[in-house]
Amino acid sequence: MYKKGRAWIEIDLGKLETNVAFFRRVLPEGCRMMPAVKADAYGHGAHLIAEKLQKLGISDFCVASAGEGCQLREAGIHGQILVLGYTHPRDFELLETYHLTQTVVDSAYAGELQASGRPVCVHAAVDTGMHRLGMEWEREGEIVKLWRRGLRVTGVYSHLCVADGRSVEEERFTEMQIARFKQITDRLRGAGIREFAAHLQGSYGILNYPGCSFDCARPGIALYGILSRKADRTRIPAGDLMPVLSLKARIGCIRSVREGEGAGYGLAFVAKRDTRLAVLSAGYADGIPGCLAGRGYVLIRGRRAPVAGRICMDQMLVDVTDIPEAEPAGEAVLIGSSGGERITVEQYAEWTGTIANEIVSRLGDRLPRIAV
Ligand SMILES: *Cc1c(COP(=O)(O)O)cnc(C)c1O
Repeated sequence: MYKKGRAWIEIDLGKLETNVAFFRRVLPEGCRMMPAVKADAYGHGAHLIAEKLQKLGISDFCVASAGEGCQLREAGIHGQILVLGYTHPRDFELLETYHLTQTVVDSAYAGELQASGRPVCVHAAVDTGMHRLGMEWEREGEIVKLWRRGLRVTGVYSHLCVADGRSVEEERFTEMQIARFKQITDRLRGAGIREFAAHLQGSYGILNYPGCSFDCARPGIALYGILSRKADRTRIPAGDLMPVLSLKARIGCIRSVREGEGAGYGLAFVAKRDTRLAVLSAGYADGIPGCLAGRGYVLIRGRRAPVAGRICMDQMLVDVTDIPEAEPAGEAVLIGSSGGERITVEQYAEWTGTIANEIVSRLGDRLPRIAV
């Protein structure tokens, strides 16, 4: 089937390469990149992205679930794949079969892993203040016990929860998390435990805390050339990062409605003048947020076509009254550039009151991901 027939995602792998080079430049000497390719590589297509990263010499990856890890192995990804989330003991077998590294989410879970008797590598998650996953940082004894229990611990990590914020309080909290994590890794090494990789920073941890240096770092969103919010200003300027993803859809047909007539579900769009509407072949089942209704625009031949009325499951309407060149089977750009205009994921997030991470990670499965 023609992949660009209805709606699709274009992935610019050259830009991904630029972003990898950017991170190699800003990360301290000897710090390995361990990219987050969870949630289908933030909607970009995990297979496509991980394969390119592997070609660029990256050999460590982070996913959210064992299932995502298995899919990457089947797609030919070698090296380490760390499962950042919980895996049910019934799926420990998959960890072994697919050589996935599992996060120890707390001490009780360490017991489950030990009881399974499976020779699985694990990374110990340490809770330094986020209170999501991990063993409490003060309970050093429990962390040391992982090695005594005979678990194959190859890594120790924590996660920062306000590294994107630049207020005094947020910076103070992050510095405290960094200090707690450093204390744990120092004490482990002091206790003669040396064979583990320590990692703490995601995208904002890298961009806002450049002085911080561990064995690996886990960039996600910024590696795709995206920040969570348009207004974010990072300590290391992110201006050289290039957006990797574009989202496009076909114009199915063009409609004329008279002044005063409504269009779409709920007749939520009401024509203020005689109007030409283009029907685009993309809707909320493709990940276009329903709350984009009546907000924002798409680009057609380099011009802005405002979103008209509600987003349907598989289609949406845009106003092309002022774009006479718009025609059936033509292309509309929902995210990306057209002519001199550009719509960023950050802009989309602002229109819909969320962060860019959510917009891309919810892009639908039925959109083909095409490398360009
Ligand atoms: C998702 C995730 C990351 C990557 O975060 P970004 O902010 O997208 O860079 C890193 N570490 C953990 C534990 C995560 O869950």
